[in-house]
Formats: sequence, C-alpha cells, structure tokens
Amino acid sequence: MLGGVNIILASPRGFCAGVEYAIEIVERALDRFDGKVYVRHEIVHNRHVVGRLERMGAVFVEEPGEIPESEVVIYSAHGVSPAVRAASKARGLREIDATCPLVRKVHEEAMRLARLGYDILLIGHAGHVEVEGTKGEAPDRIRVVETIEDAAAVQVDDPARVAYLTQTTLSVDDTAEIVAKLSERFPAIVRPAKDDICYATQNRQNAVKDLCRHVDVVLVVGDRHSSNSNRLVDVAQGQGCAAHLLQSADQLESVLDAARSALGRELENVGLTAGASAPADLIDHVLEKLVALGGSMSDEIVTARERIHFSLPPSLRAP
Ligand code: SF4
Repeated sequence: MLGGVNIILASPRGFCAGVEYAIEIVERALDRFDGKVYVRHEIVHNRHVVGRLERMGAVFVEEPGEIPESEVVIYSAHGVSPAVRAASKARGLREIDATCPLVRKVHEEAMRLARLGYDILLIGHAGHVEVEGTKGEAPDRIRVVETIEDAAAVQVDDPARVAYLTQTTLSVDDTAEIVAKLSERFPAIVRPAKDDICYATQNRQNAVKDLCRHVDVVLVVGDRHSSNSNRLVDVAQGQGCAAHLLQSADQLESVLDAARSALGRELENVGLTAGASAPADLIDHVLEKLVALGGSMSDEIVTARERIHFSLPPSLRAP
C-alpha cells in the first residue's frame, strides 16, 4: 500500500505529434478501405496501440512480401528504406506513408549529404527500424555509430568530408558525448542544421530530469521496444534517480516493491511519466492504480507546452 505517498506527474508525457499522426492515418485508412489495411512494422512501438488497431482490422507484417498483391500498405512512424518501397511497388501495393515528418527530414538530409559525396555517421541503435530506414537511403555512405567506442574507432574515406545525423529518439546527453568524440576526431564534421533528436524526445527527457529532483522513483509508462521510453529510464537513472519501465498497470506493485527494497525505506514521492508512444488510457490506468493503492495526486511539473500537429496526407483528409 502507498498511504501518504505523493504522486507527481511530468509534463509533457505520452503521445507526441508523430505518433498521433501515424495512428490517425491507420484509423482513417481503415475507414477508407473497408476495414482492412496492412501495416509494415508496428505503427508505433506500443503493443496496446497495435492490439487496438488489430481489433479494428489492421494486419501488421514485417515485409511487403507478406502482403497480398494490390492491397494497401501503410509504413510505420519509424520510416522505411527505398528497398522496402521498391518491394511494395513490385507487388503492386498501394502505399500510404505514416513516417513521422521529423524522421522524413532526417532521410532527406541523408540523401542530400550522400549526393554531395559525404561519409555520413548515423548516431543511433544498430538494427532499430528507424536507423535501418535512414541507412537504406545511402547504404554505401552511411555508417552507424552506436557508442562512444564506435565513435573512437569509426573510419571514413575523407575526414574533410564527413557529416553526422542522429536517430530522433536518443538520449540527448549520451549523444552529446558521442558528438564530442566525433568532433575531436573529425574537426570539419558537418552537423545537422537543427538537432535531429526531436522536440518530443527532448521535452520528455527535460521533464524527467526536473521530476527527478522531487521524487524517490520515476515510473515510465512505455513499451519495452520503445526507444524513447527506454531513454527516459536511462535519463532518470543518469540523474541518480531510481527508474522503472512499466508496460501496464499490472506491473505496478512489483515495480513499487523493487523500488522500496532498493531504497531501504517506504516511498514518499513517486514520479510518473510516459514515452511518446504510450497512450493516455494506459497512463490513466497506472495513475488510477497508484491512487487505489493509497497514493495521492500532488503535483504536475510542466517543463514545456507542446502545440505541434502534423497534417494528414491529402488522400486521407476528410472529403
Ligand atoms: S518521437 Fe519524435 S520523431 Fe518519433 S514519432 Fe514522435 S515526434 Fe516523430
């Protein structure tokens, strides 16, 4: 039980504009195409979102080859490589692109730099679907840099013609260390005009840092496959604060027990936030359960207000 425990919320938390955009595209496409569309990869990394869309008729696949010819394919918020688009075209699929516009911007920059003959160092998690999509724009010119050790070892053809880009959902602090190492090795490295780590990632990480100053433990609602949710846990831990990822309210009691025993005393202040792909109802369930266990809502720490909204593709706007 949590008698006397204060619950403090971080804001912003939960859905970002890119996730809302991608989910709305699937919902509208289901409406437009008689309740049946195929989605290449999880539309966003949250199994509750995916499960709800599956119940509405969406079929999730990993490759266009799994989709019957001439059907509708929607690309997930993480983006796809030209090879995936070519495979869709070869099957005569009707494509709808739900790539987050901020991810698309990184693809465009990768193509521009590759055309100019740069070696591109893509800071990100090897194998992550967003990184695979971006790398696919210029596979011969892009090398993935995942760690500071990679940054110390990576080789380029011409140190005077090298640029870096980043995955949109990284830890701002970890990335800064990697960029510092790359800049030391390649002083002429070209930086992105504007940081590729997106506004939503940065805002949620800043909010968690503030939250850490007030709580014993931070609970992050998010899927274990969600990069930005995992980074929120890392950021809190980097501040010296205990932090746990919570996929649903069912895990709450075991997570609180773990936090209590790590702390060696009863909890006094519990912080709550959520990754950019965690839906509001999931966050509400966790909050309701915290209150049901005896916690009381105490405060919401607001570090930024978000008003970003992306317009739907013309083909899916209301008639
Ligand atoms: S986290 Fe950022 S890049 Fe990813 S979908 Fe949201 S707004 Fe787009």
